[in-house]
Amino acid sequence: MQFVQDSQVQSRFSNGFPKAIELLCPHCVAQALFEARHWQEHGRQVAAADAACPRCEGVVVLVQLLDGHDHARPAALYSDPPSPLREAMPGIERLRELSAPLGRTYESALKLYNHTEWGPAALMVRHLLEGLATRLLGDDRRELPLARQLEALHQDIDTARPLQDIGPLLAPGGAFGREFEDEAAIDQATAGQLLALAEQLISYLVVLPEAMAELKGRIATAPVPLRRGAVVADATSARRPGRGG
Ligand SMILES: [Zn+2]
Repeated sequence: MQFVQDSQVQSRFSNGFPKAIELLCPHCVAQALFEARHWQEHGRQVAAADAACPRCEGVVVLVQLLDGHDHARPAALYSDPPSPLREAMPGIERLRELSAPLGRTYESALKLYNHTEWGPAALMVRHLLEGLATRLLGDDRRELPLARQLEALHQDIDTARPLQDIGPLLAPGGAFGREFEDEAAIDQATAGQLLALAEQLISYLVVLPEAMAELKGRIATAPVPLRRGAVVADATSARRPGRGG
């Protein structure tokens, strides 16, 4: 279920129910104008309708919350299944703090992806990775090709740093250790910080390595698309057009 902005509603019925809604189709991943049909109210609180994609005929369910008087509530329309739009990753502001241009490159890649411009999105991601590696690596490695830069990252970045100095916090004399002397006196702020520390550790030690391994596994087992003209190029040793060195 996904929130639909009022600006996506292109026309309405006289009772305010959405009629034509612009959505990124979750089935064919194209922008399309969906026409709602058969709005049905349920208990004066909610109405539902279905709408078919004019391109692929895939069906989307629309859910509209009501104001209790049979009228549509503004900014209360939802669609299901959700569109495949990607939202910015949590913590993206840290990237902007590291480098504002890198933050903008990430936003451009996301925007291109959400406009279904797959090729330009992928090129922008490559540009992002190059920029990130160059920003994080020492001067002597900045001229390396991207693959070598990525390999060099773990040498130039202290990946153990997030784990340092955690032990002393929990030692009997440490900031958290002292708090445990009187469990009843622990306040919300301390409990919240301790929980956040545990969550970040779990994320760093358990979630991230597992997620990276799973993603790499999926990349490694994905079928390799046959390149257009590959056979011709092999037979004639001709270079692919438009790909200058
Ligand atoms: Zn469609």
